[in-house]
Amino acid sequence: MSKTGRNDLCTCGSGRKYKKCCESKDRSGGARSTIMMIAVGGALLAALAVGIASFTSERSGGATRVWSTAHGHYHDANGMEIP
Ligand SMILES: [Zn+2]
Ligand SMILES: [Zn+2]
Repeated sequence: MSKTGRNDLCTCGSGRKYKKCCESKDRSGGARSTIMMIAVGGALLAALAVGIASFTSERSGGATRVWSTAHGHYHDANGMEIP
């Protein structure tokens, strides 16, 4: 008696190799770990978004000024003139 190898044809009769077919389904907790990965990824993305938001709001707090040599004064990020 031999166990189904990962490179043997799957026992479900799909004609595909076991490792490409039912192996993930047979392994317990496979789907659960995928959900965990998505949850962690989502949390990471949310944290990143918050970081970017705080960064941009910091910049728009008056730090972004562009010196105009033609006009002889600063322009802010919106192109408004600062006397
Ligand atoms: Zn299968
Ligand atoms: Zn100007």
